[in-house]
Amino acid sequence: METILSLKNLDKKYGHVHAVNNLSFDIQKGNVYGILGPNGSGKSTTLGIILNVVNRTSGSFSWFDGRLSTHEALKKVGAIIERPNFYPYMTASQNLALICTIKGISTEKIDEKLKAVNLYERRHSKFKTYSLGMKQRLAIASALLNDPEILILDEPTNGLDPQGIHEIRTIIKNIASNGTTILLASHLLDEVEKVCSHVVVIRKGVKLYSGRVDEMTASNGLFELKVDGNDSKLVSLLETHTSIASVKKEGDLITATLNNPISATEMNTHLFNNGVIVSHLVKRKPSLEQQFLDLTNNN
Ligand code: ADP
Ligand code: MG
Repeated sequence: METILSLKNLDKKYGHVHAVNNLSFDIQKGNVYGILGPNGSGKSTTLGIILNVVNRTSGSFSWFDGRLSTHEALKKVGAIIERPNFYPYMTASQNLALICTIKGISTEKIDEKLKAVNLYERRHSKFKTYSLGMKQRLAIASALLNDPEILILDEPTNGLDPQGIHEIRTIIKNIASNGTTILLASHLLDEVEKVCSHVVVIRKGVKLYSGRVDEMTASNGLFELKVDGNDSKLVSLLETHTSIASVKKEGDLITATLNNPISATEMNTHLFNNGVIVSHLVKRKPSLEQQFLDLTNNN
C-alpha cells in the first residue's frame, strides 16, 4: 500500500485558538478520505497546512513517503480550497485553456476533464451563464487538468441545491473509481457516509476517530426495554450482565448498550429465567448520526 500523505502530530495555533491539535493520520493510495467535523473544527486549516498555504505551528507532514519535496509533490496534487476565479465572459473551454497556460501544462486533457464533470456539452457557454453547481464542477475539472494522484476538496457541495449536490457526489465517486485518491473536508455526516471509504473525525482540532466508514458504523447495538411497574430488578439484571456496557433510563424506557453481540431472544430468556417479564424489548443499532453526535458532543 502506498502512502500518499502522512501527518504526524500536526499542530496549529492562531493566538490562543488551538485550530489543529496534535493531529496524525495517513492517506493511502486509492481510498476516499473524509475529514469530518463541525464548523470551526480545523478542517480547512489542516488542508491549508498540507497545501503549504498555512504555516504549521509544530509537527510534520510528508507527501509520497517523503520521496519528493513539498514543492514537487504539490505538482501531483489537485486541490480546490476556495472558490476559484474564472473569467465570466470566457467559455469553460477558454477558462481551462488559460489555466493550462498559466500552469505550464498541456491543453490536451481539457475535453476529457470537461467530460468527467459532465460539462462537455456546455463547454462553449460563457462561465457567467453557469449555475453554482456547474461552476463547482468546472473547478473540479480545472483541478484534474494535470492528472493528479490526489484530489483535495474543501466542502465540495456547500451552497448547492440537492440536484447539484447529487451531481458533485456522483462525479467524486467516478473520479475515485478511476483510481484517483481523494481527500475531502465536510461538516456533513451523510456526505462522508455516501462518498468516503475512510473518515477522520475531528472536533476542536482533536482527532476523535479515524478508520473505515463502515467500521465506524459497526457496533454491537443496543436494547430498548420496558417493564410494567417497578424496574429496579430489570435495571440491576442488566447492569450485572457481562454483555452489557451501560444502562440508561429515560422516562420508562431503558436503554442497554452492548459490548458483545447478544440476541433479543437470549436477553429475553435470561430476564425471564430471573423473574423479569418485559413489556417491550427491541434490539437496535445506533445510527451513524447518533455515533457522530456522541463522538463530537461527549468529548
Ligand atoms: P473548519 O474548516 O473545520 O470549519 P477552520 O480550519 O476554518 O475550521 O478553523 C479552525 C479554527 O481556527 C476556528 O476556530 C477558526 O475561527 C480559527 N481560524 C481559522 N483561520 C484563522 C485565521 N486566519 N486567523 C485566526 N483564526 C483562524
Ligand atoms: Mg472549513
